[in-house]
Amino acid sequence: MKSILVTGGSGFIGSHFIRHVLAVRPDWKVVNIDVLSYAGNVENNADYKDHPQYHFYRADIGDLETMCDILEKENIDTIINFAAESDNNKAVNSPLDFVQTNALGTATLCEAARICTIKRLHHISTCEVFGQLELGEVTAFTESSPYRPRTPYNASKASADHMVMSYFHTYGLPVTISYCANNYGTHQFPEKIIPVFIAKALAYQPLPMFASKNNKREWIHVSDHCKALLLILEKGAIGETYNIGTGVEKSIEDIADAILHATKTPATLKTTVPDRPGHDARYLLNSTKIAHELGWMPEVIWEKGLEETVAWYIANKAWWEPLLAMSHSWK
Ligand code: NAD
Repeated sequence: MKSILVTGGSGFIGSHFIRHVLAVRPDWKVVNIDVLSYAGNVENNADYKDHPQYHFYRADIGDLETMCDILEKENIDTIINFAAESDNNKAVNSPLDFVQTNALGTATLCEAARICTIKRLHHISTCEVFGQLELGEVTAFTESSPYRPRTPYNASKASADHMVMSYFHTYGLPVTISYCANNYGTHQFPEKIIPVFIAKALAYQPLPMFASKNNKREWIHVSDHCKALLLILEKGAIGETYNIGTGVEKSIEDIADAILHATKTPATLKTTVPDRPGHDARYLLNSTKIAHELGWMPEVIWEKGLEETVAWYIANKAWWEPLLAMSHSWK
């Protein structure tokens, strides 16, 4: 039996990952530690909170003593680190919070893992550490692309990656890192573009598109991301890094159009707002390594995944409406 520590497991992706693991690895013990920031929500864990293999602690990855206590008490052998400040827009206004959690917090977690001789630590990074591609460029980031972060969020995630790799090279901590594209799916906090656009459309309010509305992002359904992460945990080579992307690129205007269509609301709701400072033009990952070495392929078709996501938000207003007050993107 494996005992895994999932950090940030009450957030969007972490809560889906726990659900997936409890379903497909019933003999694993899953310990979720989450500080429950504005983005953490125990409602995300509601359907499995009483599962005998699931345990929750409210704790901060930046608290070395508590991390060591939990690792020892729960006999943890594997850590997967989702915990982060995750919103690029928020980072423009409070960059130091991002350095605190993403850089220093991750370094502290690595130190706890080193002290407790953890057998494996997987760290979730982002395609955004590689900087931006030009819109017309016929290329994609590989795992060996240079780091060129341009925003406080991206730079804090890049710092975390460097700390994780430094623990591999200096102390032999058995680590892996993955770089993922933009995720979408149910239970995403309504500060990110897809839930914000759905909420705005349902309230018949303008959908704010950044002025560079042709800028593109690569999109992956959260369930495909979670399956890739489990594969890396079980079969990824220590010290290696893996891109997780789909090749599905959409502009902000494509997303607005798709959501207006799905919610049967008019195109006149589209409105243009100034670009965020440091707004990257495009990210695209070359994901052939994980396909060839681990046999991972995305399964969810964008159109179907988005349709199901919109349907979930329409049916679950009680989940997201109370969160709007904490969403800086809602105002
Ligand atoms: P999220 O904001 O929904 O969840 C983050 C969780 O971390 C929250 O539950 C929060 O309470 C918790 N947390 C924050 N600070 C903490 C701390 N100091 N100690 C313990 N817990 C803490 O984010 P998400 O979208 O689920 O992203 C998860 C991870 O995936 C992040 O590392 C993010 O950078 C990365 N990522 C996200 C995307 C995406 O599209 N959402 C894409 C690529 C990578």
